[in-house]
Amino acid sequence: MTKTMQTEAVTAFIGIGGNLGQARATVLAAIEALAQLPPTQLIARSPLYGSAPLGANADGPMYVNAVAQLHTCLSADELLSELHRIEQQFGRERSYKNAPRILDLDILLYGDTIINSDTLTIPHPRMHERAFVLYPLFDLKPDISWHNALGQRVTARDLKIHVADQDITRLD
Ligand code: ADP
Ligand code: MG
Repeated sequence: MTKTMQTEAVTAFIGIGGNLGQARATVLAAIEALAQLPPTQLIARSPLYGSAPLGANADGPMYVNAVAQLHTCLSADELLSELHRIEQQFGRERSYKNAPRILDLDILLYGDTIINSDTLTIPHPRMHERAFVLYPLFDLKPDISWHNALGQRVTARDLKIHVADQDITRLD
């Protein structure tokens, strides 16, 4: 991995979720781990949400979800590898797609940057259809907007309306 340190901090939003073990404690500890990343600052975290497993083969207990807002001088690739390291630290195993997991950390947005590489798609390609992303993101920044895959500018406020039928509860 090439070290391409940003000279200026970028605002990144991280989607956090887990549904095995002490999910609430894990999500809070993961936010703490994000706050410790150098050279990164935790700006805010959303309230916690509980959501039903979603997607093909998804099962297991309810998820606990949150979104964290960071200011970071890490490049997007460096941030992803730090997220993988934190997932490992919490005992994450990668089995099958949508499998229950102790901890999942996804980069939702990294400034206004659009990335389509083998390892990274930003904005996260499924964030627009997930209440467990849009609700906490809306709590942090109701009018935050980004470009979707069709190049249209979308906002958390508008998209939230379309996922109102999903099973989601605010926990704190
Ligand atoms: P998922 O989050 O889709 O349930 P994983 O957490 O196992 O599944 O991630 C699988 C791969 O997705 C990662 O190894 C990573 O390279 C890739 N990926 C692509 N875009 C992103 C992103 N925006 N954030 C996190 N991982 C991503
Ligand atoms: Mg992931």
